[in-house]
Amino acid sequence: MESVFVDEVKAIVGEDRLLLDEPMKLHTTFRIGGNADYFVKPESIEEIKALTECAKRHGIAYYVLGNGSNMLISDEGYRGMIIRLGEEFSDITMQDNDMISVQAGAKLSRIGNEAAAKGLTGFEFASGIPGTVGGAVVMNAGAYGGEIKDIIVSATVLTQEGNVVTLSNDELELGYRTSIIQKKGYIVLLAVFKLEKGDEAQIRSRMKELAEKRREKQPLEYPSAGSTFKRPEGFFAGKLIADAGLKGFKVGGAQVSEKHAGFVINTGSATACDVIELTDEVKRKIKQIYGVELELEVKKI
Ligand SMILES: Cc1cc2nc3c(=O)[nH]c(=O)nc-3n(C[C@H](O)[C@H](O)[C@H](O)COP(=O)(O)OP(=O)(O)OC[C@H]3O[C@@H](n4cnc5c(N)ncnc54)[C@H](O)[C@@H]3O)c2cc1C
Repeated sequence: MESVFVDEVKAIVGEDRLLLDEPMKLHTTFRIGGNADYFVKPESIEEIKALTECAKRHGIAYYVLGNGSNMLISDEGYRGMIIRLGEEFSDITMQDNDMISVQAGAKLSRIGNEAAAKGLTGFEFASGIPGTVGGAVVMNAGAYGGEIKDIIVSATVLTQEGNVVTLSNDELELGYRTSIIQKKGYIVLLAVFKLEKGDEAQIRSRMKELAEKRREKQPLEYPSAGSTFKRPEGFFAGKLIADAGLKGFKVGGAQVSEKHAGFVINTGSATACDVIELTDEVKRKIKQIYGVELELEVKKI
């Protein structure tokens, strides 16, 4: 049965773009995660659709991954197929003079550069977020006063029923780190952003300024998944954690960053279990001291 599945997947993406028993720590910015049974890198909508249909037919679970920069994957890995939308599916096309249409696997940094080169402003806030368009739309990624909701016109998604549908900004129901995509289990295929005419030098200088801020404030020298917790209503997770004296708190190889308490870092040998134990303890202490419930921003599988 399983070898029939493998043969069918090979027929869809070819032998080179199917990896078996692939270590997920190679595909997450946390550098954590056991092996996935199947890891595929599709390059077209047709392939993505065929892969999901094939998995469903064989009763194999699947999960869509972008840059893996908001993920904590179990030490046991993933029993099923990881569909990684990355560079193989990352075309960027200009529409009219101020719209950019991008495939889900395109990195935000690349789009930021393309937009700057075309003298288009509005994408600067996103250009330093280490993720793909797919992950950014799903999470309504945001930084420095901007969020995806401000610039997205529409996203084309694959529904659970196998239909390709285009949703407008409103229909995407983008909120703080949420969207309708997670609720409905859609796969983001394409997104269209509307930007404004600007001055290339000014755009690049703003991007540089924001990148410097990140380097100064964030522990970019260590693997992490960015802000570990969502911002609780009326508070900042990092400040609560720092005020609770938890900076530097460690479980195994996982540690609350000394530089930015909102980040949990992998000091070299962290397991997913270490991270879970550490975040559970942080949540417990913050609840005990401040009565505030922290919620993970990072997605666990
Ligand atoms: C150093 C660092 C700094 C960060 N700074 C920020 C920041 O400033 N602002 C911010 O918002 N985030 C930040 N993040 C978190 C992360 O970069 C964002 O959440 C990013 O949008 C995730 O994109 P990704 O491609 O890596 O998604 P992944 O981590 O691969 O996936 C995240 C979720 O999206 C889903 N997903 C991914 N692609 C698709 C798709 N095509 N269709 C359907 N579902 C999909 C996955 O299933 C998963 O549930 C930071 C992370 C790091 C490591």
